[in-house]
Amino acid sequence: MDSSTAIPDLVAAVRGRFDSGRTRSLRWRLEQLRGLRDFLVERGPELEKALRSDLAKNPSESQLTEIGVVLSEVTHTISQLRAWLRPRRVGVPLALAPASASVMLEPLGVVLIISPWNYPVQLLLAPLVGALAAGNAVVLKPSELAPATSAVMARFLPRYLDDRAVAVVEGAVDETTELLAQRFDHIFYTGNSRVARIVAQAAAKNLTPVTLELGGKSPVYVDDTVDIDAAARRIAWGKFLNAGQTCVAPDYVLATPDVSARLVDALRVAISSLYGGDAHETADYGRIVNDAQFARLTGLLNDQQAAIGGRSEATERYIEPTVLVDVGLHDEVMTQEIFGPILPIVTVTGLDDALAVIRAGDKPLALYVFSDDKDARRRFLTETSSGAVGFGVTVAHLSVPGLPFGGVGESGTGSYHGRRSVETFSHEKAVLSKPLAPDTLGLVYPPYTPKRSSFIRGLLRRLS
Ligand code: NAD
Repeated sequence: MDSSTAIPDLVAAVRGRFDSGRTRSLRWRLEQLRGLRDFLVERGPELEKALRSDLAKNPSESQLTEIGVVLSEVTHTISQLRAWLRPRRVGVPLALAPASASVMLEPLGVVLIISPWNYPVQLLLAPLVGALAAGNAVVLKPSELAPATSAVMARFLPRYLDDRAVAVVEGAVDETTELLAQRFDHIFYTGNSRVARIVAQAAAKNLTPVTLELGGKSPVYVDDTVDIDAAARRIAWGKFLNAGQTCVAPDYVLATPDVSARLVDALRVAISSLYGGDAHETADYGRIVNDAQFARLTGLLNDQQAAIGGRSEATERYIEPTVLVDVGLHDEVMTQEIFGPILPIVTVTGLDDALAVIRAGDKPLALYVFSDDKDARRRFLTETSSGAVGFGVTVAHLSVPGLPFGGVGESGTGSYHGRRSVETFSHEKAVLSKPLAPDTLGLVYPPYTPKRSSFIRGLLRRLS
């Protein structure tokens, strides 16, 4: 579709394509998924270059956390889609026999996918895999804050897909606002919870279902039952990846004073093993997306004690991997999602205290526990609520296609990845089929004579 088409006309044209029925066949869906796979492979160099320009991402990191994540999602979906789309038989109550019941997935229609700047390839295209696999037409809205990636998407992606069914709309708040004024059959939004409320309100006007993939403060708990050096490497990798601009990055650490002291030493070693003695000098460490985010993040360092790092450089929007100690729960850095390379360690008296801190906050997108104590692990699972839990590992759960990825409460609504994506972008249609003869339902029709009433009561007693 020509990207200069006015938004209402563009959405109407995409809807026309969906209404034509073309997008429903398994063949069309597989063609789109293969096209998307070709786009990722053939346009990999353009995508890597764009990610370097938008976020100073190293090409290996771009392959690992952006292009590779979508490739694995698309390959898995191509191999499983036929099976996932098979209607699922369910049992029928005896009183309805003979009959058969099944659940079939049907496409919702026209889907709007709005994505953020921090993983601008993955977070635009991983939802697209599910939306196409489910047989929908799609309008994509990349983030204006990753302009180079947005331009690659607008220029090349439609060439690999049915461009009458998939449209890319570039732009910022005005364009998104106009898009949200149109009627969609599902809106999939990834970003912050302030804009999520705008999206949800716009969707409510048309009773459009939404998936909201949001963020928040994902805690890490470390105790003395684990290998602290190994834990520090996992924490540092998840935290400083993409310079901390990851929705599931560890946001802060909870540990006793003794563990905290050992962890700081171990983090110092881990950070220098990842990025060398000076992260400024390596091409493996990212930069902050824009000046506004840089100013917010460096502001969080005021009045804080940096045990590691703490330096920054405004012209390059560089912030050193930083670990803060003696941080209070009411300090500014603990009152917002950090979304940058700053890791505060908050000391707690022990497990109960850590659980209380987590429960007092919003439900996080992810919770990471480094403990070999079975009881502690069980208590985190049963006494806290979060989108996901990682034992001994950060961030990587999102690369498991069988795990639903999403938040709960303030960290989001709904989930996707793998089969769950196809379900998210489908309506689960209930289908009941009963032969007209014998007419067993006749036994429960009015008139409710005493004999029939007693039959109905007997039947219900047997069912209860
Ligand atoms: P962003 O600023 O790029 O915004 C996301 C999208 O919302 C963009 O496409 C933008 O055009 C649109 N938008 C912005 N303002 C709008 C408005 N007023 N009305 C309508 N649309 C508007 O990205 P962001 O929100 O800064 O992203 C960072 C946040 O996203 C963090 O909170 C992070 O945790 C979260 N996040 C969540 C996930 C996840 O998968 N759960 C992934 C990445 C990021």
